[in-house]
Amino acid sequence: MNQIARLLDANDAYASARAHAADSRPSRRLAVLTCMDGRIDVFAALGLHIGEAHVLRNAGGRVTDDVLRSLALSTHVLGVDTLVIMQHTGCGLAGVTDEELQRRTGADLGFYPIDDHAKALREDIAIVSSQSFLGPLQLVAGFVYDVETGGVADVARWERPE
Ligand SMILES: [Zn+2]
Repeated sequence: MNQIARLLDANDAYASARAHAADSRPSRRLAVLTCMDGRIDVFAALGLHIGEAHVLRNAGGRVTDDVLRSLALSTHVLGVDTLVIMQHTGCGLAGVTDEELQRRTGADLGFYPIDDHAKALREDIAIVSSQSFLGPLQLVAGFVYDVETGGVADVARWERPE
C-alpha cells in the first residue's frame, strides 16, 4: 500500500474512535515546544491528552521566529501561560554547525545547531522570556528527553518575577 493510502486508511479507524475536545484553548494552559524527531511521542511522554496543550515542533525544538509567532497566539488568544521546551538526546542538530548543515542541504538558512543542551535551553528561555509581547507567559521549563530511556531531565527554569 502506498504511503498516502496508508495514512487515509489509518484515519478511517481513528475517526471512528477518537477522543474529542471541543475547546481550542488548551485546558492545561500549556504549550510544549519540541523537536520534530519521530521518536518523541509528546503526549505519551508527558502524560498529556488531546485538548490539553499546544505542541509546536521544529528541527531541534528551538525558539525561532515562527515559534514566537505561534506563542503570541497561544498566550494572547488561547490562554497559554506555561511553556515547556523539550530538546532530546541524539538530536541531529547537536554537534553540528550552521556551515556544515548549509553545505549538506544547499539551504542558506540558520539551523539553530545545539552545542550543549543546557546552554541552548537557557538561550531559548532567555529569548522567550524577554519578548515584551509574551507577557502572559508565567513559567518556562527546559527539558531534555532521553530517546533511549524515555526519561526527561529537568534542566532549566524561568518564572516571571512578581
Ligand atoms: Zn532533534
